[in-house]
Amino acid sequence: MQTVNFFVQHSELRDIYDKVAASERISETDALRLFESKDLNVVGAIADLACQKKVGNRASYIINRYINYSNYCILSCQFCSFARKKRDADGFQFSIEEIVEKAREALKIGITELHIVGGLHPSLPFSYYTDMLRELKKLDSRLRLKCFTAIEILHLAWLAKKSVEQTLAELKEAGLDSLTGGGAEIFRKEVRSAIAKGKESAEEYLDVHRTWHRMGGRSTCTMLYGHVESLSDRVDHLRQLRALQDETRGFVGFVPLAYQPEDNDIPVENPPTGFDSLRTIAVSRIYLDNFDHITAYWVGLGLKLAQVALSYGADDLHGTIIEEHIFHMAGATSPQLQTEAAMLKAIREAGRTPVQRNTFYEPIKILENAPAPERTENAARSKVLEDNLATA
Ligand code: SF4
Repeated sequence: MQTVNFFVQHSELRDIYDKVAASERISETDALRLFESKDLNVVGAIADLACQKKVGNRASYIINRYINYSNYCILSCQFCSFARKKRDADGFQFSIEEIVEKAREALKIGITELHIVGGLHPSLPFSYYTDMLRELKKLDSRLRLKCFTAIEILHLAWLAKKSVEQTLAELKEAGLDSLTGGGAEIFRKEVRSAIAKGKESAEEYLDVHRTWHRMGGRSTCTMLYGHVESLSDRVDHLRQLRALQDETRGFVGFVPLAYQPEDNDIPVENPPTGFDSLRTIAVSRIYLDNFDHITAYWVGLGLKLAQVALSYGADDLHGTIIEEHIFHMAGATSPQLQTEAAMLKAIREAGRTPVQRNTFYEPIKILENAPAPERTENAARSKVLEDNLATA
């Protein structure tokens, strides 16, 4: 029988704890109560219980690399610090050869996944994307290609003049393994028009993922929090994700993203604090009872807070990443990469057993008492990795 700690026992949230202990689903009203509570430790204790019931004492990470193929974008979402127009001096676009070279270098440090996104490019043809996937798969057929947000898929479908399903089928045939979860922002229409006017609607975002899931594909999903949305907007967002997950079971993990306020058109005086980030991760874990994995995204949180989040419902620290642009152009002060050793240390210190995972959150290696693999120290490092380590 579960021992209920003193503070939970005497908390106004005790009824929610009891529901979680009995594996009962909580309501949207419960989720809002959790968000509004100032008793962060009790919210965290409930989330930790939910997390332990799902995954036990394990916490995972992935060895991956990010590649942004281009930051040119035909849209101008107000919150975005990443997108550039062709006239901008700091716009970029990589050739397929350059992307393959980045991937080849990253394979030397043992990546199992490439995470590839970009803006909605004004002129690259559909064949650029399929050729890119094919060339990357030629490097190593085991390398997982997690690419494109839902809005990129809609853009590619428009380019290819095909349905979303046909577009996804062609991308899959070329090597696409998983969709990324980016672009969900906050689903409520009024918030979406305030921060990302012109972007796809919530229905379109969910429909791209629904279609991919029905084709047997898997993906992650996100929520960008801490800008102009209310706590009820967050609950509404989680509600829609939980409903789609009930329908398809296609999401392998949920990644809450803390808003970064610099260099964009929606200055927010009070961006997400540590308290807000921990409660958002905790409520997500408790409410999303049909998700196995909740990621603490260290790029937005910093590794120290992401580590604490492992006691507030998160069971994953995301990845090594190697070269992050989107959050850093918006002011994130975290380094552009984490070494495997740093993530192992963070997980172990938090009292969890580290697990190296793949794109689908499946274990590759359970590192019970093992030291960090040698490659962390002796890897043949890429130039980018050397530069990032020098500035980390
Ligand atoms: S968020 Fe995405 S779609 Fe919007 S402007 Fe930035 S890159 Fe373009």
